[in-house]
Amino acid sequence: MTVSDPTAKPAESAGPESAVETARRQLERAAAHLDVDAGIVERLRHPTSVYRVTVPLERDDGSREMYTGYRAHHDSVRGPYKGGLRYHPDVSEEECVGLSMWMTWKCAVMDIPFGGGKGGVVVDPKELSAGEKERLTRRFAEELRPVIGPMQDIPAPDMGTGPQTMAWFMDAYSMQEGETTPGVVTGKPPVIGGSYGREEAPGRSVGIVTREAIDYYEWDREETTVAVQGFGSVGANAARYLDDLGASVVAVSDVDGAIYDSDGLDTNDVEDHDETPGMVSGYDAPETLTNDELLELDVDVLIPAAIGNVLTAENARDVSADMIVEGANGPTTSSADEIFEERGIHVIPDIIANAGGVTVSYFEWLQDINRRKWRLERVNEELETEMLRAWNAVRKEYEARNVTWRDATYIVALERIADAHETRGLWP
Ligand code: NAD
Repeated sequence: MTVSDPTAKPAESAGPESAVETARRQLERAAAHLDVDAGIVERLRHPTSVYRVTVPLERDDGSREMYTGYRAHHDSVRGPYKGGLRYHPDVSEEECVGLSMWMTWKCAVMDIPFGGGKGGVVVDPKELSAGEKERLTRRFAEELRPVIGPMQDIPAPDMGTGPQTMAWFMDAYSMQEGETTPGVVTGKPPVIGGSYGREEAPGRSVGIVTREAIDYYEWDREETTVAVQGFGSVGANAARYLDDLGASVVAVSDVDGAIYDSDGLDTNDVEDHDETPGMVSGYDAPETLTNDELLELDVDVLIPAAIGNVLTAENARDVSADMIVEGANGPTTSSADEIFEERGIHVIPDIIANAGGVTVSYFEWLQDINRRKWRLERVNEELETEMLRAWNAVRKEYEARNVTWRDATYIVALERIADAHETRGLWP
């Protein structure tokens, strides 16, 4: 596998940096603050293994097509690999490796006993019928069966996959293993072992972390203005959480554009993208904006919650928010991050902000292993406890080391991973 030189400066003119470049650069930045064995850092620059499989599919017209699938395992020193499965035409080995590294940091910062994994199939799911998607998923599960399992590697939904995909995946695995094994994947429908509150959890954690940051800077919650790019699962749940808290959510968007109300939108009245596609930009609001204009609004908090690489060297100087809370994975490029640091704009990183998703996945796995369902209230209470624990650990590093929020978060993660490596030692 070829990966680019992670120490090179990001050259955005040559396109945004890859996930693996960003992940390695963050690792090195955090390592510079810690007394970590260089061998451990070098180990963490690489995945443990990457599986590449060919997935044959019989199309509805009887023809056969071959798809390529991957599963990257980054590090399992703290527990089984954990991470999403993506169905997207741009899935690549390099992307899976980079995203699996992010999952290692995310699980460590939340102190969840999992390591980082990520995978997917190079396919446009919109071109598949439901039956084709089911057959592809079942065969992909079978191809990955030797390297996954509730104690080895636990996939979850990601772009292009969802609860139904996880249900097929779990069923295929269970049929072959001869026992119902709900703990092999998370993000399942509750009727077959999924957790209540899983769908809302990433947006909810964005809301909780934003609330903590607002309180940290002693801003008045009622006076705080918020703009959210991407009113989908993460964005809508975060926006509604903050709206309920009393903050003023003045702008939200979907892929077609943004709506704006300086007095604050009623976020419960705006349907999210999944509820009715096109309803966000079609909502009867006082003003409409483009997505680019939303990113530059003069608000207290900007939450990019749509896609990666939206805050770049090109627009970072035009961002007027005082704080950015990353709802999406990787919305800020390294160059933009440097500009925000220089301009004193606080950036709360994705690996803590949207980590409610993997945290409730962990709760789901516990419920599956114990064969005992939790009530929604318990899920939300425990999520709140875990988010506060993680936030306080990050805050301590932020204050002690005088670093950015991103560096403080990676320092917490790396310290835990490096400690585990030191303590377990190298075998043989
Ligand atoms: P989603 O599909 O539910 O919502 C995405 C929203 O972004 C939609 O409103 C869509 O219209 C909008 N959008 C899409 N492309 C856009 C563009 N180019 N410009 C502006 N808006 C655009 O997706 P989601 O599950 O909410 O995920 C959003 C982000 O959060 C992704 O980066 C995802 O990886 C990350 N994330 C999701 C979860 C999860 O469990 N859902 C967990 C952690 C991180």
